[in-house]
Amino acid sequence: MKRRKFIQDVTKTGILVSAAGAVPLASFANQKSPFDQAPLPYGYDALEPMIDARTMEIHYTKHAAAYSTNLKDAAKAEGVPENAPVEKLLAGISRYSAKMRNNGGGHYNHEMFWQCMKPNGGGNPSGKLMEAITRDFGSYDAMKTQFTDAGKNRFGSGWAWLYVDNGKKLKIGSTPNQDNPLMDVSEIRGIPVLGLDVWEHAYYLKYQNKRADYIENWWKLVNWDYVQQRFQSAV
Ligand code: MN
Repeated sequence: MKRRKFIQDVTKTGILVSAAGAVPLASFANQKSPFDQAPLPYGYDALEPMIDARTMEIHYTKHAAAYSTNLKDAAKAEGVPENAPVEKLLAGISRYSAKMRNNGGGHYNHEMFWQCMKPNGGGNPSGKLMEAITRDFGSYDAMKTQFTDAGKNRFGSGWAWLYVDNGKKLKIGSTPNQDNPLMDVSEIRGIPVLGLDVWEHAYYLKYQNKRADYIENWWKLVNWDYVQQRFQSAV
């Protein structure tokens, strides 16, 4: 894809309209550019004891950092401008290499994942998000069970998602590897509002094979204010 075409596709309002609906661009604050990692919004040990400091450090400085670096490499090789919104890139990811897909997804997913957690998080969502959860799943507990199952049952590596579909309904699903619902190649399509990394690198040091225990504890970290923001910009 040529640089000129890519820039023209982004509307002046900063909202990309794709098959997935209107995607807010530049979702992440404090990035130097869309392909850079934002600083982690808390210390490596801030999510203890649910996620241990060593896991957070390796996850952020090695795994997630590599996605950012490799995304920049792929973008350079394939003519994507450095300031391109990642959401836009993912919405047309079928036109690019597997390297772009894996690392573009990996970068976006992790930038979102860090924001989806906070120290002393958890509890229940509120406001319009809670209303929509009740409307679309029956109850918060039903949503939580469905999301937990999506994470537990994802075979191998991948992500569980709460996302807004084309009809503005909340849905739950999972994707393999570093795919996500923004991608035109994904079986589930929409705008992700909450994501959970179920790759072993996210939990293995503390939980070993016990993914279910990791997921159960992870609920105590969810930053519902951030999820609410994403939800409101998606509907
Ligand atoms: Mn990860």
